[in-house]
Amino acid sequence: MTGLNAIEIRGITKTYGYGEFAVTAVDEANLAIRQNEFFTLLGPSGCGKTTLLRLIAGFEFPAAGDLLLHGENIAIMPPFKRPVNTVFQNYALFPHMTVADNIGFGLKMLGRPASEVEARVAEMLKLVRMEKFAKRATSQLSGGQQQRVALARALAPHPKVLLLDEPLSALDYKLRKEMQIELKRLQAETGITFVFVTHDQEEALTMSDRIAVMSAGKILQVGGPREIYDRPANRFVADFIGETNFLKGKVSGLGSDTASVALDCAANLAVPASADLIVGEEVTVLLRPEHARLVPVGSAEAALTGTLKDIIYFGTDTYFNVSLSDGTLFTVRQQNRPDEVGSYSVGDQTSVAFAPAAIRILRG
Ligand code: ATP
Repeated sequence: MTGLNAIEIRGITKTYGYGEFAVTAVDEANLAIRQNEFFTLLGPSGCGKTTLLRLIAGFEFPAAGDLLLHGENIAIMPPFKRPVNTVFQNYALFPHMTVADNIGFGLKMLGRPASEVEARVAEMLKLVRMEKFAKRATSQLSGGQQQRVALARALAPHPKVLLLDEPLSALDYKLRKEMQIELKRLQAETGITFVFVTHDQEEALTMSDRIAVMSAGKILQVGGPREIYDRPANRFVADFIGETNFLKGKVSGLGSDTASVALDCAANLAVPASADLIVGEEVTVLLRPEHARLVPVGSAEAALTGTLKDIIYFGTDTYFNVSLSDGTLFTVRQQNRPDEVGSYSVGDQTSVAFAPAAIRILRG
């Protein structure tokens, strides 16, 4: 499989500092990033995603483990020799230089002939749709335009892998959405492997072919956006990506297709049977707010019942927090329709329903 992978990270560990001040930023990470994929490292601040990116770039060296790029071990290769390039959060452009000079800078440093630099700069300007700005100083560009120049500059020397460290975080919401689409287009057009770092789960879900979710230096789950969202491997992933209700309970019976779980809030749930469940063991039931809906108390489909604590209007949706008998707040998210008149009030007794297929079970 090595030939198909752009990057293989094998048992990589990186520690900063010594003794009692030592921080393990990346902890025995294993990862295979395929050629031509848009791959995202996702996790909260301090989880080690930038460190992993810097290890690939060669700005840091691992304490242990191997790093392969297109099959070649580059763990101790200096950064300038690696066929990778990085786009930084703050763009790191040369403000006094023109757009064209910024884009051609790397190629010039590599000693490429002027005619080749000129042709490549023209090609890159076209790719990022900045032809009209070639002669302008980068200090006279908007944030989005600077971002395009930074991308063009990083792509100009034909890297095999482009590393992007939170490149959109300085942009406002609308521009950020535009640049997300632009980045996807650039990746598809160039066919270069993109390794993208973000702490923004929505950005990761919309842009990536695959995502690695990290926490405390460890890679917790790798998969496509749907897989990560629909089948989170553990509580951290379920909580970090999207919104999730967690209901604690114990397995009270096992059938061939379904198991029953006695929840702490005194309700019994039929959940999809899984081969490794044991009667009596503690489990956590996961339910996404958008997979649940409010139904009248006593209706046949009612699974949980409680008191409506909050009604939060969000334009497209409304969030309803239902307080269950053990004090757990269960959130239901329903789409708003213009023809629908708000018919719920805080303090109402209400029930909640959901399709059995929407339920996920984690042990413990
Ligand atoms: P952020 O999203 O805030 O950039 P991150 O997920 O990229 O966070 P890293 O920057 O990789 O995380 O940091 C991982 C851990 O290593 C953190 O605990 C951080 O404080 C620590 N760390 C990072 N760089 C250094 C350094 N040069 N010296 C000491 N500790 C460091």
